[in-house]
Amino acid sequence: NLLTTTLDAVWRDRVAAGPDRPALTYFEQTLTAHEADKLSDALAAELQSRGVTPGDRVGIRLQNIPQFALCMLALWKIGGVALVLNPMYQERELQHILNDAGPVGLIALAEEAEDIRAAAGLAWAISVQEEELQLVPNQNRCPEPVTNTPDSPALLTYTSGTTGPPKGAVGTHRNLLAVGESNAHWYHVQPGQKILAVAPLFHITGAVATTVTALISQTEYVFVNRIRADLMLKTIAEHGIHHILGSITVYNALLDLPDGGPEHLASLRTVFSGGAPVPPATVEKFRSRYGHYIHNIYGMTETASAVIAVPLGAQAPVHEPSGTLSIGVPLPGMEARVTDLDGRPAAPGEAGELELCGPQITSGYLNKPEATEQTIVDGWLRTGDVAIMDSEGWIYLVDRKKDQINVSGYKVWPREVEDILYEHPAVREAAVVGEPDPYSGERVVAFVSLQQGGTVDPEQLRHYVRGRLAPYKCPKKVTVIDDLPKTATGKIQRRKLRNQEA
Ligand code: ATP
Ligand code: MG
Repeated sequence: NLLTTTLDAVWRDRVAAGPDRPALTYFEQTLTAHEADKLSDALAAELQSRGVTPGDRVGIRLQNIPQFALCMLALWKIGGVALVLNPMYQERELQHILNDAGPVGLIALAEEAEDIRAAAGLAWAISVQEEELQLVPNQNRCPEPVTNTPDSPALLTYTSGTTGPPKGAVGTHRNLLAVGESNAHWYHVQPGQKILAVAPLFHITGAVATTVTALISQTEYVFVNRIRADLMLKTIAEHGIHHILGSITVYNALLDLPDGGPEHLASLRTVFSGGAPVPPATVEKFRSRYGHYIHNIYGMTETASAVIAVPLGAQAPVHEPSGTLSIGVPLPGMEARVTDLDGRPAAPGEAGELELCGPQITSGYLNKPEATEQTIVDGWLRTGDVAIMDSEGWIYLVDRKKDQINVSGYKVWPREVEDILYEHPAVREAAVVGEPDPYSGERVVAFVSLQQGGTVDPEQLRHYVRGRLAPYKCPKKVTVIDDLPKTATGKIQRRKLRNQEA
């Protein structure tokens, strides 16, 4: 039971149990657990000499490279909090987060560390060279010991900003270990297996469901510096990767490759997709092309990532009549319930807000006591997602509460319409939003991007939906655009499309 211990202690146990096992791999370079321990010790000592004390936040702005994991380990060893920053964020987006989070210092790539430090008025920055796993010059230093508790903060992550400005959620040692332990169990992780760092480490899924899971198990954590589909395929085949967890964008990109087949993914044991809806049509395309079934997995920044998922070997049932794939069942330690609009338990099959309770749930938002109070009530997290639980306990995510469209009093969930559009062979991605309408209050409009080389008349797409859904759900207008607006974590931002409409 990892809920009464801390990340640094679990890591130390792992090192003691297998010091010479490979822990972190980047191209041809591999660090054993012992070597990773030494490198993170040296960095931890350096951070202490720069004044980092327990509870202090330190910004980490890096791509998916092994140094990212070493920085997290170093911080956890000295009671620090890893503030993970999206390297794609430009000055204004970054400033919003730095102002809110108030880090004491920054770790970033050499070419930008000093500029960001100066612009943000931070006391210091540590530069990282992409090819150099050693982070500080003197390697023979150890940090002064500190005592963490399971409730000590370990991670500060910002939400994706899909529905509004990103909010910072604090993850404690217990939150992170609860997710790491339950995920390792769910993926059937075995000692000596290899996990690929696919999801970005600056986002909760990469930071916890992948990184913590890999660090606390006896596994080798393999990095590819840029998430490019062709590179990913090559790395999986060359290294014999066992587990991948990405967003649906990653699987779409693999499907876009001109070549690539089951022979490239032969080593994989688990394939999970989380963070965004998984269209059933994509699961089918992926299975017929690559021979692997994509398991749906659900999580939020506020739940320290993955907490509901399809069990290995099971097939997610499809909800009728909406056609939505189940997100699975709660992982060990997590309790889920669905509450109707009046705050009463919803009956099986009835839609309501999904609420979650368990050791994975955040202690709260940083600097937002009101939002925390409204979101976590009596230990239950109100997810803002509308869900249905069937009589066997399978959970189906209908959509986000905020995105419901009201057409003359008829409720439309954009997801259902999008899933139909995804079935059309020419469609690559689809987003459906409500647009103000003087007659019906709101009306449904759709935006789609097309498969490479695909062409389709928007009128044809409207027809396609009309043959499959009630008339009020059918888009009144379909607009073809090159690329749908996305958050840096790959989620389609309906809110941007709505603003564009307005
Ligand atoms: P913000 O809270 O800033 O609006 P966000 O909610 O997108 O952004 P995250 O914490 O990254 O930020 O995402 C959590 C949300 O992602 C969930 O509330 C849910 O709506 C969606 N989500 C996660 N996993 C899945 C999944 N498997 N299927 C459908 N939606 C999912
Ligand atoms: Mg959210």
